Amino acid sequence: MEHKFDIVIVGAGGGGLFAALEAVRTNPRVSVAVISKVYPTRSHTSAAQGGVNAALGNKDRDDTVDLHVFDTVKGSDYLADQDAVDYLCSQAPSVVRELENLGAPFSRFADGTIAQRPFGGTVKDRCCYCADKTGHTLLHTLFEQCLRRGVTFFNEYFLLSLEHADGDCQGVITLNMATSAIETFVAPVVILATGGHAKMYWNRSSNAAGNTGDGQAAALRAGIPLKDMEFIQFHPTGLRKSGLLVTEGARGEGGYLLNRHGERFMVRYAPQKMELGPRDLVARSMETEIIEGNGFESDAGSYIELDLRHLGAEAIKKKLPQIRELSMHFEGVDPIAEPIPVRPTAHYSMGGIDAHMAKTAVRGVFAVGECACVSVHGANRLGGNSLLDILVFGKRAGQEAAEEAPRRRALGIPPGAVAGMADEIRSYANPERYERYGIIREEMGKAMGDNVGIYRVEERLRTGVEEILALRERFRRIRLFDTGTVYNTNLIQILELKNMLDLASCVAITALARQESRGSHYREDFPRRDDGAWHIHSLCTMERDGEVRLGHKPVTMGKYSLETRSY
Ligand SMILES: Cc1cc2nc3c(=O)[nH]c(=O)nc-3n(C[C@H](O)[C@H](O)[C@H](O)COP(=O)(O)OP(=O)(O)OC[C@H]3O[C@@H](n4cnc5c(N)ncnc54)[C@H](O)[C@@H]3O)c2cc1C
Repeated sequence: MEHKFDIVIVGAGGGGLFAALEAVRTNPRVSVAVISKVYPTRSHTSAAQGGVNAALGNKDRDDTVDLHVFDTVKGSDYLADQDAVDYLCSQAPSVVRELENLGAPFSRFADGTIAQRPFGGTVKDRCCYCADKTGHTLLHTLFEQCLRRGVTFFNEYFLLSLEHADGDCQGVITLNMATSAIETFVAPVVILATGGHAKMYWNRSSNAAGNTGDGQAAALRAGIPLKDMEFIQFHPTGLRKSGLLVTEGARGEGGYLLNRHGERFMVRYAPQKMELGPRDLVARSMETEIIEGNGFESDAGSYIELDLRHLGAEAIKKKLPQIRELSMHFEGVDPIAEPIPVRPTAHYSMGGIDAHMAKTAVRGVFAVGECACVSVHGANRLGGNSLLDILVFGKRAGQEAAEEAPRRRALGIPPGAVAGMADEIRSYANPERYERYGIIREEMGKAMGDNVGIYRVEERLRTGVEEILALRERFRRIRLFDTGTVYNTNLIQILELKNMLDLASCVAITALARQESRGSHYREDFPRRDDGAWHIHSLCTMERDGEVRLGHKPVTMGKYSLETRSY
């Protein structure tokens, strides 16, 4: 079946939905389709807990956009592009007020203004929040508005490939998950908004199972470079057993991190910011404490304690209700009475589809949100800046797409591309194949966790690259055991695994190549930042045979020049 639209948006998280809303608001005559592999309100944005940054000045009256820019550039370890950061931070106050006007129920101060809490790595308290369910409320608000404006949704459709003819967008090939039929969407403009890829750290990640980087992998195969893939954020406070997230807002509200001697050890690592240092620094400090034997031991592994008890029952119930629920369900601990056992968890992908102000190298293709690298987070993202990224660049892409679509024409998707995709899917069921999805997935998670984690060193990185490449080889023999056509989840898992393996090879290869420490990328063998050699973006492209090639691109500087980063 062939569908035709002016604009096709792949992804119904906050980035995709704001793009859709803004496209129909900018030009009500353009037809807009949103494709999503999960029902829109189950998109990962709904898991965002802590909040969204904007220099509103409701808490710290002297906060400014400039201070927000500075915090973001410093937080990125000077790898962010400053033109993009300027845009992000200058748009933040208006985009948050716009969400408020659209109906997002922000928590409030006594004077009625939007409440703001402290978040890590910032000089002012500017994180706007809806208790600890910020993403959930923003996503629902945007979904309601899209429905009201007549956006067409194709839920439970899976992106298979992005198609272009000599650099002009033609549309996408998808799989209808309910029927397993291949359906094409011809469109002169496509916005990729498919979320992050930190689930490749399968065994310890805060991400939803669906954060498998499908859009990034499709872009890579379509010839669009991926940027800064080595930068994966490990969030300091994942629950000990599951890696599920305890928001930075818990430390923002005053939570302490304690080692087994009862010491607030952050005093030795970030004496000024303490628990509210940037995430890369806090996560590394926790791991160091554990490695040096200062962590707590348990059957479920070593851990650090996050103590909220001194905040009091009322504050915990009002401001951190979800954290209390998650701690009780997944650790059997009520934070009102006991500290929460936590350990760093793979959380966010700073790298992604190379895009300048949301535009990619293919004409008519935009990329926004966590799947993209525009790049505002550089080597380390500040908490609260990702929801902002999806709103600001989602909105911008939607507006530009609506202006561009009427000027462009899609010739259509070549039948050969569709047939090739059908052949690939059929080949998975070949009875001569024998490799199992679950086994390769577990080994991928372990290879990444053991070798490409918080602390990195050449020998382990080489092992990581070799293991991931070997798994990609074994994937050629993967077998689809379920040959049904109705909601074939086994097929979807295999398609997702292929994407994760391609992206994991990019992460491991770029991590091995970057011989310095910057932000989340810490090399034990190169512990210093090396601006002379490495103040540069990494690029990955993929050859036809699947080999990953490396390239580089300069960082766009602005008013803030390189400085030593301390907190
Ligand atoms: C637990 C947690 C808490 C967080 N808290 C915060 C916070 O407080 N503040 C903050 O700023 N950031 C936070 N973040 C980060 C932030 O939530 C995400 O970066 C952001 O929501 C990503 O939004 P998105 O629109 O890019 O993608 P997502 O919300 O992940 O949506 C991706 C969409 O793409 C679709 N999709 C994916 N693959 C396919 C495919 N093959 N075919 C079709 N559709 C596809 C999915 O169905 C989905 O609709 C948090 C992250 C986590 C994991």
